[in-house]
Amino acid sequence: MSLAIYNTITRTKEEFVPREPGVVSMYVCGPTVYNHIHVGNARAFIVFDVMRRYLRWRGLRVRFVQNYTDVDDRIIERAREENLEVDEITRKYSDAFEDVMSVLGVAPPNVLVRATDHVPEMIEMISTLIERGFAYESGGNVWFAVEKFPEYGKLSGRSLDDVRAGERVEPDPSKRFPLDFALWKAAKAGEPAWESPWGAGRPGWHIECSAMSLKYLGMGFDIHGGGTDLIFPHHENEIAQSEAATGESPFVRYWIHNGMVNIDEQKMSKSLGNFVLAKDLVAEVPAQVIRLMAIAGHYRSDVDFGDAQFEDAKKAFERFEIFYRNAKDRVKGGGREELSREFLARFQRAMDDDFNTPQALSVLHDLVRQGNARMAQPDYWEDAAAVEDLHGMLEEFVLITELLGVKPREEPAASADLTEGLVALALSMRESARSAGRFDEADAIRSSLGELGIAIEDSPEGPRWRRTI
Ligand SMILES: [Zn+2]
Repeated sequence: MSLAIYNTITRTKEEFVPREPGVVSMYVCGPTVYNHIHVGNARAFIVFDVMRRYLRWRGLRVRFVQNYTDVDDRIIERAREENLEVDEITRKYSDAFEDVMSVLGVAPPNVLVRATDHVPEMIEMISTLIERGFAYESGGNVWFAVEKFPEYGKLSGRSLDDVRAGERVEPDPSKRFPLDFALWKAAKAGEPAWESPWGAGRPGWHIECSAMSLKYLGMGFDIHGGGTDLIFPHHENEIAQSEAATGESPFVRYWIHNGMVNIDEQKMSKSLGNFVLAKDLVAEVPAQVIRLMAIAGHYRSDVDFGDAQFEDAKKAFERFEIFYRNAKDRVKGGGREELSREFLARFQRAMDDDFNTPQALSVLHDLVRQGNARMAQPDYWEDAAAVEDLHGMLEEFVLITELLGVKPREEPAASADLTEGLVALALSMRESARSAGRFDEADAIRSSLGELGIAIEDSPEGPRWRRTI
């Protein structure tokens, strides 16, 4: 069985054949670190995390590179607003991003790179582009001459004429052609700048991803990911720069783009308080619920995040948790040599079809439905085949939920507050029984608490309790 991936550049689902057998090289455009990310932004990182887990489970070694864009107009603006240095802003928001990703169960990339650490590589690439006649310097800026790259538009499927008609481009007197894009920007007062052969300045946004992906993965790497909003111009420009600079093609074998998230902010705020920032939401709900919301739709589709989607995800996770807990209690000591792997096979078919997570989730719901039916059998404990079946299903359930990153928690979340409250309730029931002269009942409560590892000591101020185990 082979894995099919929809490739944006060919507009077809293709069999996935990595450049090097058994190894996947993958680059995903990371965040511009100037603010806290929205719940909607988290979706892209969750879907690429699910793909990465799945590729690894399929026996491939995945080398995953992601960047931080840490030099940008919005960052400079933000530094002014918060009265901090640019690198303090980027450190603050990249730390915040990593905290949120960690809570969401998104594994860190193998290589996590910052644009500002790679300015020499970018300068070298820009110099090559000038030497090869694809770029020109003008007034301290360096522009990529799109007319010199005849294949410009091949990713987005637009001709230069389409682009000219459809895009609002920033006029700049130093450009020869309106669609030329910046590789290097001349320094402005008060902004971060680096020395270069064209004077002080800073790199344009697109060149960073070409320079860094080629440095860590090499020409013709396997998968380049990002949101559909990056297809044009960002990824189109990455292709032009990389193929023009190396004289080789293709830059990337498979282009994967995730759909956008429409956040119904008003509705989200109503049901969630003001938790539209990922960091606030992860403090309130289990990460699994957010991941379920992120993968409920196909990664290529645009999706809505609102209270309906949030409620659905919560219900699904609750159903998974109840099944998991009940099934674990009912397979103790069970087990069998041969697993049917029926659900796993269906899960794999779904994921092999361009990472179809909605289909994969429906397999999981089927499994839970059938597992619940087994447990509901009145003669369950007498039916050895039913116990074995359930055990097999539970093992498949654990594996699938781990691959999607939505495995239920091990224990119900019994907080310290809840324990306090329940013991206080039992003690007050014991006191009522004693004051009403029902001493047998009071003693029964005391001995039941004792079996739970809670000892009661009567004192002049009333009963006190402590844990004995
Ligand atoms: Zn990028």
